[in-house]
Amino acid sequence: MKTVLVIAAHPDDEVLGCGGTIARLTAEGAQVHIVILANGLTSRSDFDAAMGDAALRLHHDRAEHAGKILGAASVRVLGFPDQKMDTVPILDITQAIEREIDSLQPTTVFTQHGGDLNADHVITYRATLTATRPMAGRSVQRVYAYEVASSTEWAFQSFAPHFHPCLFFDIAGTLEKKITAMQVYESETRAFPHPRSPEALRAIALRWGSAVGVHAAEAFELVREIR
Ligand SMILES: [Zn+2]
Repeated sequence: MKTVLVIAAHPDDEVLGCGGTIARLTAEGAQVHIVILANGLTSRSDFDAAMGDAALRLHHDRAEHAGKILGAASVRVLGFPDQKMDTVPILDITQAIEREIDSLQPTTVFTQHGGDLNADHVITYRATLTATRPMAGRSVQRVYAYEVASSTEWAFQSFAPHFHPCLFFDIAGTLEKKITAMQVYESETRAFPHPRSPEALRAIALRWGSAVGVHAAEAFELVREIR
C-alpha cells in the first residue's frame, strides 16, 4: 500500500471510518491522500450564510488539520453540496473522483459503505465503484468500504448492502490519534452515549479488536481486490 486514496462524503467521515488506519499506514511509509466530496457545512442548522466562504474555509482548514494529525500527504475538499449530493448528477461526482485517481494513481482506495443511512455516503460509494471500475491499465488494485459511527449502524440493516466486515486493521497504536483528529471537528463530536463521542469511538475500536484478537481495530468490507 504505497499510494492510498481515502474518499469521504463529508469532513470527519475519513476520521470516523479509517482515522486509525490512515495514521498507521502513514507511519509505515504510505502516501495517504484524502478527498472529501461535500463541503460538510451548508446543511447545518447553525450555518450562517452571511459567513459564507469564511465558514467554509474554517471547516476546510479543520479537514487539513485532522489530516495532518493522521500524517496524510494531502487533503482536498471538493465542495459538492452537503446532504444534497443527490442534486448533482452522479456522473459529475464520478468524474471528480476519476480526476483524483488519474492524478494520484492510488493502488488502494477506501470509501464509504453503500448501505449507510446517510444518502451522501451511498452516492459516494456508488460513484467510487464506477470511478474505480477495473479496466486494463488502471492503478486501483483494491477497494475497501469503511463504516461511519451514527450512519452505518443507524441504517439498522434496512438497506443493502449490509456491513459485513472481513478486513481489520490493528489500530492499537494509533487509536488515540484518531480520537485527537476527531476532536478537531469539535462541531461534529457529541457527548456519550452518542456514537461519535470519544468513549463510543474507543468502544467500537475495542469491540472490533476483540473480535480479531487485537486490542483495537477498524473494520472494513472488501469490495474488490486484484492480486
Ligand atoms: Zn458523512
